[in-house]
Amino acid sequence: MLYLVGTPIGNMQDLSSRAIEVLQSVEMVACEDTRRTGLLLSHFGITAKLVSYHEHNKAAAGTKLIARLREGAEIALVSDAGMPSISDPGEDLVKRCIEEDIPVTAVPGPVAGITALVLSGLDTRHYYFEGFLPVESKERKERIAAVSSMTTTTILYEAPHRLMRTLTDLSEAGNGDRRAAAARELTKKFEQVVRGTIDELIQHFEEVPPKGEFVLVLEGTRSQATKTVLTEEERQSRILELNREGLSTKEIAKKLAEEWGESKKALYDEVLKMVK
Ligand code: SAM
Repeated sequence: MLYLVGTPIGNMQDLSSRAIEVLQSVEMVACEDTRRTGLLLSHFGITAKLVSYHEHNKAAAGTKLIARLREGAEIALVSDAGMPSISDPGEDLVKRCIEEDIPVTAVPGPVAGITALVLSGLDTRHYYFEGFLPVESKERKERIAAVSSMTTTTILYEAPHRLMRTLTDLSEAGNGDRRAAAARELTKKFEQVVRGTIDELIQHFEEVPPKGEFVLVLEGTRSQATKTVLTEEERQSRILELNREGLSTKEIAKKLAEEWGESKKALYDEVLKMVK
């Protein structure tokens, strides 16, 4: 039997009593980093045999684990934090166990994305998990385009040194006015959730440089079906109408962003060209 065991994402007390029981009873614990998991286990007085299973050795290490599992061994898989298989290795091993008819079960624990989602204040009924955006530019552009048209709440993982780039890329893709929450240090002493539009978050993190691992939760965009599609003439006539009513460029852009479900920044530029 393979046990997928959830471990804390920052707070040691989040290791469940069933997780402790399972980790103590199995023949071995497969983990990403034996030193790190060793520290967690020794905190709970667990003396398990640790074997390495990570992104770069998962094929060969997986074969060895499968061989022992086929002989009837009980093995636990943990990751550095949270649930294995969620932006962490595990998925391959689960698939291989299923192919080989080896039973798999889970001892669920915290997941950073879900913890951030429930703290975000955004719609939790429908959500989409993106995880880490690719770093490589072509794939990254594709995923940002996909995220930009996602109509459900969207969860992203990000490292502190890439947070600003991700927020900026999202804003430049037309998401500047999209509401969001950036959650850091979840379950830890300095847990913090910064809420606002993407552009407001950029402003915040320009003043307070990002520290710690982040989960970014984005409000879904308005669905394409509900977006108002207007001709160029209709757009211009609405802009001029609001201008005649005495609204400033900024006010017109804000109003139209709400009406048309488009980026306030892009609209500001469009309005400026017409009314200056
Ligand atoms: N398997 C984990 C889970 O179940 O959430 C995620 C592992 S993934 C390699 C690590 C990422 O999760 C971090 O870069 C960060 O985006 C997020 N994360 C993990 N712990 C976190 C915490 N305490 N606060 C905020 N984000 C966290």
